[in-house]
Amino acid sequence: MIKLEDNRLVETVGMPVTDDKGSVRLTACVSSQVGCPLRCSFCATGKGGFARNLKAHEIVEQVLAIEEVFNNRVTNVVFMGMGEPMLNLKEVLAAHRCLNKKKESRENEDHVKLIKDYMARNETELSKIYDGSYV
Ligand code: SF4
Repeated sequence: MIKLEDNRLVETVGMPVTDDKGSVRLTACVSSQVGCPLRCSFCATGKGGFARNLKAHEIVEQVLAIEEVFNNRVTNVVFMGMGEPMLNLKEVLAAHRCLNKKKESRENEDHVKLIKDYMARNETELSKIYDGSYV
């Protein structure tokens, strides 16, 4: 759990996997919202209601916190924590850009991936979907 400046809490999860050669792949599963307005019946986050969207820096900070806790660099990012990323697309895309800049600044960095089926589309397409009404 990460406490935000306004004392709200979000979940973020680090998932380390070591392959046969001893290389560690560390996946960060980050939240994009405090709570979630979609209220899927099977989901504890949805039952807790919705408070607000996260800012881009609050998403990036989750990745940095995981790197600190695991003392390793994050190689993959998935937006499968609290919230629906498509409802906070502007900040999610800003975080994505920032994380990729972080990636580019490292040598031999693995790709930081957004793994959610529709996130496989390119940013231009996603920006067309976003009309600002959810922020
Ligand atoms: S966090 Fe995901 S699964 Fe849970 S209510 Fe929101 S959209 Fe549904």
